Amino acid sequence: AKEAVRVLVTGAAGQIGYALVPMIARGVMLGPEQPVVLHMLDIPPAAEALNGVKMELVDAAFPLLRGILATIDVVEACTGVNIAVMVGGFPRKEGMERKDVMSKNVSIYKAQAAALEKHAAPNCKVLIVANPANTNALILKEFAPSIPTRNISCLTRLDHNRALGQIAERLNVHVSDVKNVIIWGNHSSTQYPDVNHASILTKDGEKPVRGLIADDKWLNSEFITTVQQRGAAIIKARKLSSALSAASAACDHIHDWVLGTRQGTWVSMGVYSDGSYGVPAGLIYSFPVTCEKGEWSIVQGLKIDEFSRTKLDATANELAEEKSLAYSCL
Ligand code: NDP
Repeated sequence: AKEAVRVLVTGAAGQIGYALVPMIARGVMLGPEQPVVLHMLDIPPAAEALNGVKMELVDAAFPLLRGILATIDVVEACTGVNIAVMVGGFPRKEGMERKDVMSKNVSIYKAQAAALEKHAAPNCKVLIVANPANTNALILKEFAPSIPTRNISCLTRLDHNRALGQIAERLNVHVSDVKNVIIWGNHSSTQYPDVNHASILTKDGEKPVRGLIADDKWLNSEFITTVQQRGAAIIKARKLSSALSAASAACDHIHDWVLGTRQGTWVSMGVYSDGSYGVPAGLIYSFPVTCEKGEWSIVQGLKIDEFSRTKLDATANELAEEKSLAYSCL
């Protein structure tokens, strides 16, 4: 029998956590053959709720779930984990300055980085979901210097999936026939959803999205803002932020990272920039990546037109600003 993989979820009693843990326990993240042990962390005020989640996981009798740890102790939570999905974070509250939110998250991610660095399994893969996701990932990297940079990433797959969804709806095709959209940059409203290299699988082969959607105006404005503002639209409708789609995207991110992307298909991941596409090195930036044998690599050689260049730079500038704000909180 396969050895169980230990998966940490922080903020596990929160709404994304509540949607995410059953997906992991059902094999959505690591496949239907892979047993898992769930490590769930939350903060003391959420301890009772976390225990409730644990009770429900027991009651769901998931065949793949080989163990459940529910704890408020960061070290215990991080010990021996192979995968860490960091959902816990300090929420933006009305009237709070950006710097105050940043400073709270910097201290959370500093502490969790130290615990992961010391206690996680070797080669642990880390995914940061909590906002500001890219910059939280950068802080985690700073304070966990022995975790290889290639093992630290942040979630932009939800934005990527939202872009696929919008194109599929517009063309009335199945979402699984849309491929190779790109989310560039920050998981924020400056992200750039790019369809210039995207295509649709049709019975006559692959067709570029730009050829099938003649309405450049829609692609260059409404499509982009719809994807950028989708989170806000969901809050307006649900009176709560997106949770099931965020959880599903977190599963997709880890699934493809560990098990590989499909031949000829890329996905978007927030990863440490090596300077590709003129993005300053040293930022966690969302790029198109392919994954093989548990390693991602940035897709190279895509042509960037002038319109895209401006957008890639704007979101990079925002990340550079966030980075200096975060460092001023250290
Ligand atoms: P959610 O589960 O809804 O969200 C968790 C985090 O994910 C937030 O930072 C949220 O950002 C972020 N996020 C990233 N992408 C998305 C997306 N597309 N849609 C929605 N959220 C997204 O928050 P809850 O408040 O329900 O749960 C948070 C949990 O974390 C609680 O159980 C709390 O106790 C715990 N927590 C843990 C801390 C710690 O580990 N030290 C500190 C504080 C809280 P955004 O805020 O921008 O929506």
